[in-house]
Amino acid sequence: MNMQHTEVALVPCTSYDPVLLDAALQQAAEIAGFPDVRNRKVLIKPNVLNASPSAKAVTTHPAFVAAVIRLLRARGCTEILVGDSPGWQPGQLAARASGIFQAVEAEGARWVDFKEVTAHAVSQSKVLRNIPLTSWLDEVDVVVNLPKLKTHRLMTYTGAMKNLFGLIPGTAKSAMHMQYPLARDFGEVLVDLALSIQPSFTFMDAIVAMQGEGPGNGTPYALGVILASRSMPDLDWVAARCIGYDPARIHYLADAMERVHHGISGYEPSTAPLSPGEVRHEGFQLLPYESDLSRRLGGMPSRIRQTVLKVLQRRPVFRTARCIGCQACIRICPAKVLSLDTHMGSNTVRIDDSHCITCFCCHEVCPANAIEIGRVLTRIWHRPQSKISSKT
Ligand code: SF4
Ligand code: SF4
Repeated sequence: MNMQHTEVALVPCTSYDPVLLDAALQQAAEIAGFPDVRNRKVLIKPNVLNASPSAKAVTTHPAFVAAVIRLLRARGCTEILVGDSPGWQPGQLAARASGIFQAVEAEGARWVDFKEVTAHAVSQSKVLRNIPLTSWLDEVDVVVNLPKLKTHRLMTYTGAMKNLFGLIPGTAKSAMHMQYPLARDFGEVLVDLALSIQPSFTFMDAIVAMQGEGPGNGTPYALGVILASRSMPDLDWVAARCIGYDPARIHYLADAMERVHHGISGYEPSTAPLSPGEVRHEGFQLLPYESDLSRRLGGMPSRIRQTVLKVLQRRPVFRTARCIGCQACIRICPAKVLSLDTHMGSNTVRIDDSHCITCFCCHEVCPANAIEIGRVLTRIWHRPQSKISSKT
């Protein structure tokens, strides 16, 4: 593929009605040059972040997954697998809650949990030499990526490239967060991963996107479009523009574009039939651009740097009044700095601030919207209501 001529399909679609979806996906596939999948075995990778109903816009919509299965079958695929590895729950359990598992079964495809791991060589590497990915990749010819367009506390925006992080089974994802805690470094890992998954094609569900406290606790926003492309960096660039971001300010998107287009100055992927400026996103709640504060303070003496970081670094703030004591945050935390106190029917999550790597995985998985991201002042503000405690 000539990356200079990649086109991103940006197709209007305002509902998950199967007839409308089939037509819109067909149009998107034609525009973006969907590959020949006759007699191929395909793995579909939706976003199944956790066990959430589809109406919350946490996951790819099950009707979207079903429509892509129909499209693949119509184009001659021999076998269609669908799978994901949520952060801490079994894949099938999460897929059932969203309705994706049922949609897969109804369309005659097969759900697979990602458990076994194979080390995959990373072809266009900046950080990684190899990466532990689901062994199902060894069984298929093509990966069809089905992300949901969402905001993301750590990465600002999440779409095609970030969705492939779910190809890493279970707890191996936590190890990656521990190894690359800064958003900038973690973003380079995501780009390494995305560029090494070939061949692939992406259909993005942006019919209803997630705004605000994404990727797990934001609110739905009817954006009314489907995006499709052979190129994940191009698609993510366009998707970020559609909701009002300047993608050049989101480090991992800029990094990806530099790698595939050798510089971002002035380059904009071509789109059809819509342009990003035609996508209405009035009032879409964006998250702030990532800030690698720790790196910016790199020249300071260590003790001063630690003090400044303590005041300015955004951290998780646990709201006891909302906490249901499910311990999802404790299980996912790669730094193992959380514990739960239950007393008189009240759940208080305790955090060891000094070892928190600010990966925000806890915020991502909390099913009760009980974790905010804020600075020290936010924590002090919430203390009287939520009885938050900290060891530092
Ligand atoms: S407490 Fe939350 S932000 Fe801190 S390391 Fe654990 S999961 Fe990451
Ligand atoms: S803060 Fe959220 S994820 Fe953690 S125990 Fe409470 S409800 Fe569960």
